[in-house]
Amino acid sequence: MPYSKKILLLLTLIVCLIGINACTVFKSSVSNESQNKQIQTFVSILPQKFFVEQIGKDKINANVMVMPGESPEIYEPKPHQMRQLSKCSSYFAIGVPFEAFWLSKFEKINPDIKIIKTQAGIKKFEMENLKYFNTYLKNHKEMNVNNHEHEDHNDHRHHNFHSHEGIKDPHIWLAPSLVKVQSKNILNALVAQDPQNEDYYTKNYQEFIDRVDVVDKTIRQNLEDSKEKRVFLTFHPAWGYFAREYGLQQVSIEIEGKAPKPEYIKEIIDFAKVNNIKTIFVQPQFSKKLAQQIAKDIDGKVVTIDPLAYNWDENLINVSKILGNL
Ligand SMILES: [Zn+2]
Repeated sequence: MPYSKKILLLLTLIVCLIGINACTVFKSSVSNESQNKQIQTFVSILPQKFFVEQIGKDKINANVMVMPGESPEIYEPKPHQMRQLSKCSSYFAIGVPFEAFWLSKFEKINPDIKIIKTQAGIKKFEMENLKYFNTYLKNHKEMNVNNHEHEDHNDHRHHNFHSHEGIKDPHIWLAPSLVKVQSKNILNALVAQDPQNEDYYTKNYQEFIDRVDVVDKTIRQNLEDSKEKRVFLTFHPAWGYFAREYGLQQVSIEIEGKAPKPEYIKEIIDFAKVNNIKTIFVQPQFSKKLAQQIAKDIDGKVVTIDPLAYNWDENLINVSKILGNL
């Protein structure tokens, strides 16, 4: 190779390397810039991050309060989250228990933050399984147990449940029809905050609603064969709206964060045996200990399903498959 050609090759190589380098630098500065332009927002739980991202896509960045494995019933924000929060322009609330105490604190830390209640327009129900279980017990005991004991028991039961009446079920993200309402609230909030991109958000919203419809249809198909077995037993009562939507009945071991009393556990075991229930559903955020004990007593098993999973669509379809195969 002649000397001049060698030089040329070397020069070309150098230019190429600089080019690649410049490209990388350029790229990273672009992604930084687009990140800076993103609307910084917060949500309470992971499924909400999924909803907000479906509609806002790359124009928003959704931070999450309740991280995987934590419980929105008793959550306390971490100091670094409070710092993040001070840089956010909006907070998508959903009405989970920890918000009752913390939302006003968030507003104090960041007076400019706009709090959007994505649960607006949703009628919440009381924890229905208690009524169902009460009715079951009443009918069952009237048939089987002598009257004296029965009266005693029912009195106690009534008293026991009375303190929980009026608790509204917060788990509204687990029913597709209610997710549509939340999505509309998210869309409206994003458009209000960033009206220039209304068409973009509206198109994403429409696509997501179509996806929700597909999820709903798939769930119905998966549950078609389970018509005989409509009752399922869960540790934490997270699946009330899901059950309501698909004609199932949830019975829970735990009653709104409170450990069940031994008498109630006995009744649950009795209930499971009579109804031939062999599966107890638990979720990663709670201890499995008691569920495992009860599973032993009914000669059944414990199965984990997660009401707080990020990939909302796949997760609900998966849950419906499990319930459909009970
Ligand atoms: Zn819960």
